[in-house]
Amino acid sequence: MTDIERVGVVGGGLMGSGIAEVSARAGKDVIVVESSAAAVEAARGRLESSLKRAESRGKIDSAQAVLERIRVVDDIEQLADRDIVIEAIVEDEKAKTELFRRLDEVVTSPEAILASNTSSIPIMKLAVATKRPSHVLGVHFFNPVPVLKLVELVPSLMTDDATTERARAFVQDDLGKNAIDCQDRAGFVVNALLIPFILSAIRMFESGFASAEDIDSGLVLGAAHPQGPLALADLIGLDTTKAVAESLYEEFKEPLYAAPPLLQRMVEAGLLGRKTGRGFYTYS
Ligand code: NAD
Repeated sequence: MTDIERVGVVGGGLMGSGIAEVSARAGKDVIVVESSAAAVEAARGRLESSLKRAESRGKIDSAQAVLERIRVVDDIEQLADRDIVIEAIVEDEKAKTELFRRLDEVVTSPEAILASNTSSIPIMKLAVATKRPSHVLGVHFFNPVPVLKLVELVPSLMTDDATTERARAFVQDDLGKNAIDCQDRAGFVVNALLIPFILSAIRMFESGFASAEDIDSGLVLGAAHPQGPLALADLIGLDTTKAVAESLYEEFKEPLYAAPPLLQRMVEAGLLGRKTGRGFYTYS
């Protein structure tokens, strides 16, 4: 166990609620900050249903006991005493930069770690919004957080080694995850490889070359993938997929990272995948 006891999470959506859940399951005291009263309720609902599912599958003894370690609030100032704050708000550089500037004001301990779960925004851009870039790094979890073991650790050029090692101990020893080390480049390791693959599948579907089901079956049955690329895009969220593609394109200017028109149109239409009930597939 590390000396990190008080965990803050900003954004209680798909990822933030998962990060809060695994932290509370590891015995940490957790505060989740959301942006409005309605979003606080939605985040609480997400946590409750995930923890009840874990309880019914015998993964935890008591959902209630874990929930008691999590407070969901809409007031960022409550993060003042946190040992680590992990940001998991929308993938928007301006919003994240503003949030890091604010966290720098709010979080009092000079030893506290300010981490981002960003999928693609360079950590340096967030670090320089604070007066403590040595304590800022990327701690990138995977969806669904309670299930997937990987965390990418992404120090910027300014992160000190002690911060990286404390974050490594937190995710490995406390949360039971496996960490890999990545340079501070858009997409890190996994998304730099995965996103062009998903975009190629969307282009293949868009051109009418094959159906969504056949593209996905091809990869599941022919390459032993646990799910096909279009089902995976629906799981990630098509808005997040598009945002990550745009960050990669912005960084490398390579056509393989350019979001295809169909992805743009689906996001404009609000067809965001599982979270809205419809993407490449329909969910009830
Ligand atoms: P999401 O849309 O499900 O959740 C974002 C949440 O942040 C929402 O609940 C929203 O109300 C809240 N929010 C927005 N602005 C806020 C603010 N200023 N203060 C407090 N709360 C705020 O998105 P997500 O899929 O959970 O993604 C969150 C982050 O995690 C993004 O940076 C994304 O790139 C990254 N990520 C996503 C995945 C994935 O598979 N979806 C995987 C790894 C990392």
